[in-house]
Amino acid sequence: GAAAQRHRAVPAEEWLQKWAAGKTGFHQEHGHPLLKKYLDVLLNGRNGLRIFFPLCGKAVEMKWLADLGHRVVGAEISEQALREFFSEQGLPYREEPVPGIPGAKVLQSTSGNISLYCCSIYDLSSAVVGKFDGVWDRGALVAVNPCDRERYASLMISLMEKNSSYLLVTVLYDPNKHKGPPFYVPESEITSLFGSQCEIKCLEKVDAFSDRHRDWGLDYFLEVLYILKF
Ligand code: SAH
Repeated sequence: GAAAQRHRAVPAEEWLQKWAAGKTGFHQEHGHPLLKKYLDVLLNGRNGLRIFFPLCGKAVEMKWLADLGHRVVGAEISEQALREFFSEQGLPYREEPVPGIPGAKVLQSTSGNISLYCCSIYDLSSAVVGKFDGVWDRGALVAVNPCDRERYASLMISLMEKNSSYLLVTVLYDPNKHKGPPFYVPESEITSLFGSQCEIKCLEKVDAFSDRHRDWGLDYFLEVLYILKF
């Protein structure tokens, strides 16, 4: 199973090229149905939360949460993705360098409630971005190179506030038939990455098979939603 993908690594340059070529089939124009459905589980009735979107792309859900009065922070290596986010959502923004991270910048909505860091997620720390009450991780853990998963998970753990919630979407398919990304991440791996730090519950498994997955040579494709409670 997972062994088939253990040594696969996607260089940053390849992600930038995908954005430049418009090969962004992962982007969900209308947002993710699982976030809509489980928003209450993430927010738990609380207002004015700080929500983190790792490897955010131009996820429209960032606008949803900001419109609900939450503060949104994202991290993404593609500046193009971030500019497309603000222009497609019709949001004016400004850009600033990030003290302490050479070459990084932060694109911030003029209203101040959406801050998107243009840098590698591994450049961030709680000293720069603070800690979060909630995380929406879709297309993030599953996009991280398999060899970097532990580093990614320990960074994410370090960014979680007490009593915070982390919604995580993983994908299940036959990893011998598609090289990824997204990478196949079984439940046993979620447990070994996060299990010592939080409570993990599987909320739902959905059939997400589409033509895109058929073109990859797959015959099934599931999305699995977990909630991690810190
Ligand atoms: N979460 C988004 C995007 C998923 S695709 C969505 O659901 O639509 C994964 C994204 O991660 C790509 O946009 C890619 O440019 C970005 N990325 C890859 N490696 C990264 C890294 N080390 N740091 C920040 N962003 C990264």
